[in-house]
Amino acid sequence: MIKLDSQMHYKIYNYHNIGEDRKQIQEFLDAGFYIVQCDASHHYDTKRGSASVGITAPDGKEYTLKDSTFKSPGPYYAEMKSIVYGLREIQKIKKEIKNTLLLNDNFYAVNFAAGNFTPKKPHIKQVTSEIMTELEKIGFGVQLGLVRSKVNRKVDKSAKKTLKSKEKEIDKRIEKRVQEVLKNIEKGKAFENYTIVESIVSLKDPNSDYWFNVIFEPYPACTGYWWRQKWEPKGEQIIRARALPCSHMCRAAELLGLNIFDVFRKQIFRRD
Ligand SMILES: [Zn+2]
Repeated sequence: MIKLDSQMHYKIYNYHNIGEDRKQIQEFLDAGFYIVQCDASHHYDTKRGSASVGITAPDGKEYTLKDSTFKSPGPYYAEMKSIVYGLREIQKIKKEIKNTLLLNDNFYAVNFAAGNFTPKKPHIKQVTSEIMTELEKIGFGVQLGLVRSKVNRKVDKSAKKTLKSKEKEIDKRIEKRVQEVLKNIEKGKAFENYTIVESIVSLKDPNSDYWFNVIFEPYPACTGYWWRQKWEPKGEQIIRARALPCSHMCRAAELLGLNIFDVFRKQIFRRD
């Protein structure tokens, strides 16, 4: 297994894994980031949720906590709603947001917000699109971070249910795909000679005169043996849903300035 450093983690998962590392948060403040902390709780009897948003400016100034309540169908919804409120609050403080680190402690909420998981339940779909709308308004200024739940915080029993074995198994499969892509990124470094003509990237095989051709639009394709054998025959729909990039694609993405984990995000992080 390749150990991921924090920059690599961000590149792959689109969020920072902060855990309880306060030093890392301080580094963001020192780098001029606003820290937006979003927290929520869901009340099962009343089907209501509450969210609180705390904002710290780069100079350490803390804004008054903002609390909101809302109708909440479930605990993930509540956490995600708190992210929506966090994104709205930071827009009130700063019109033009360059650097914001938005923190939440729910693994699923952060992964939905990062675009890693595709929502299926209607209420999760709805709140995911609310998050996306706010993010679009802000542009590229916001980075997400996953933090560890506060010590002594009451943990809802049913939230724990989600760590059932099926979910763990899916997490393992995703981890395996990530590792496979990381391996292909490494392998792709061998391709030093290349040309790019009208978005076709050609890579010279270092051991022969053969050139591999890669395209990403309208959907990924490569003339290498592995891809032609494994994915090409399955057709566009399956490629868009399940294919993983070959080493040539990893190298081509790098040459085009693309993050291969963004290009194949749906396929790598699928949970079906
Ligand atoms: Zn290939």
